[in-house]
Amino acid sequence: MVYPAFFGQTFWNYSEVCELLGARYTAAPLGLITVAAMLPDTWDVRLINRNTEELTEADIGWADIVMTGGMLLQQADSLDIVRRAQNQGKHAIVGGPDATSSPHIYAGADFMVLGEAEGVIDKFIAAWEAGARSGVFQAEKFTADVTKTPIPRFDLLKFDQYLYIGVQYSRGCPFTCEFCDIIELYGRVPRTKNNQQMLRELDRLYELGYRGHVDFVDDNLIGNKKAVKAFLPDLARWNETHDYPFEFSTEASINLSDDPDLLNLMREANFFAVFVGIESPDPATLNLMRKKQNTRRNIAESIHKIYSYGIFVNAGFILGFDSEKGSVADAMVELIEDAAIPLSIVGLLYALPGTQLTRRLEKEGRLHSNHDLFSPGDQCTHGLNFEPARPLRDILVDYKNILERIFDPVAYAGRLDRLVSMLDRSGSQRELPEGDLRSKFGTMEKVHRIMGQLPMRERFWKTLTNCVKKNPRVMTSLMMLMAVYLHLGPYSRFIISAMDRRIAEIDAKESVPLVAAE
Ligand code: SF4
Repeated sequence: MVYPAFFGQTFWNYSEVCELLGARYTAAPLGLITVAAMLPDTWDVRLINRNTEELTEADIGWADIVMTGGMLLQQADSLDIVRRAQNQGKHAIVGGPDATSSPHIYAGADFMVLGEAEGVIDKFIAAWEAGARSGVFQAEKFTADVTKTPIPRFDLLKFDQYLYIGVQYSRGCPFTCEFCDIIELYGRVPRTKNNQQMLRELDRLYELGYRGHVDFVDDNLIGNKKAVKAFLPDLARWNETHDYPFEFSTEASINLSDDPDLLNLMREANFFAVFVGIESPDPATLNLMRKKQNTRRNIAESIHKIYSYGIFVNAGFILGFDSEKGSVADAMVELIEDAAIPLSIVGLLYALPGTQLTRRLEKEGRLHSNHDLFSPGDQCTHGLNFEPARPLRDILVDYKNILERIFDPVAYAGRLDRLVSMLDRSGSQRELPEGDLRSKFGTMEKVHRIMGQLPMRERFWKTLTNCVKKNPRVMTSLMMLMAVYLHLGPYSRFIISAMDRRIAEIDAKESVPLVAAE
């Protein structure tokens, strides 16, 4: 099983943080180790993660079949893995979200196993065992019974290579955001594992000696509130009984902030961070993208509410929607500042294959040809794979403006200050477990190393001193977010330069004198 490399640098890979803590990559390949657990016991599995290690000819030579697949940002490497396997006379099997959304791109693979593996992997195995050497197996949509999903093969992972380890509780989300591929891949009725099953996964991680940050990779952990509310008390009890070996993060929709019971349960279970898709400050834009759950609320207050339960928020924002009437830069920056969200990822809208957005743009004739083919970059450098409603140049200028302002070191430190003043960890577990990679943030050596690399370090020292005096319980979170700035600062400048180049290309085209046709 070969997990493909993500292309180059992205906002998400936090390479500087990995380097600082001695890890090689952020997250482990949960999808592949879950599929590995569904294979017959008689099959030997070797896992190679191309983000952390080399795939050698000897590895391919050892295998009978090479299984791979990932997301759009892994497309180029997935195809390369297929080619390399076939060049060595091996059969290549592709699955995962990108192959499921764009199977035509992987037509050269020997087998395609599309959709959720639980519904289809047995058919592939039976066909292989019966002698088939090619085929396409498509799972029925949204029907996989995740209560039957086996415990992922965590034993295949080298824990010290990662910042954190992922687990999954549910699939699917009840909302309807137009740009989102999750509801297309997993449906709008969230399916959850049962409590005992989920705790057995944590038992396994614990037995294997892992301690520290565990991420619930669910796209919206609170998609089925009733189920998650019944699960969290068991999770809290498990964590307490085991003396808090794990601290959790996840993704959730902003309506989390409306539910004090749920927030309290998450605090009790030892959640410390949540990613929230805020997308836009503009209600008309939120309505157009069908993200109604973010409207009719004061977003900054909703975020502060989550802070009051000791959970810090990372958030996503998107630029390039049709309803943007003019510059949205001021409103977006104001919201990010008011909400005090240090880690705010702003990207350009990208029409992902198979989404409502892509279907609409296709009907309107606005999609770029090859819109589903990966081009080197991410949604920051190569977003807007369609004709936007307002001039592309204006959007790119807006984007640059936002990045320059929110990742200015003084602005970032200011948001950290405000976060420190609001993050209430008084009811949360204080000590990190022994063996937690993040405990390195507390050593003087690491503090000085982070501070030594930050720009305007006096300003960040002020933030740190203030935190020590006023809210020392949030020190680890603060150091983590300062370390993340070592990645965000340079990466935002990289995107700004990419925007400068795109803007210069547009200007150069527009300044070409028109030659009158004969
Ligand atoms: S809330 Fe998140 S996961 Fe759910 S539909 Fe919207 S973008 Fe997708």
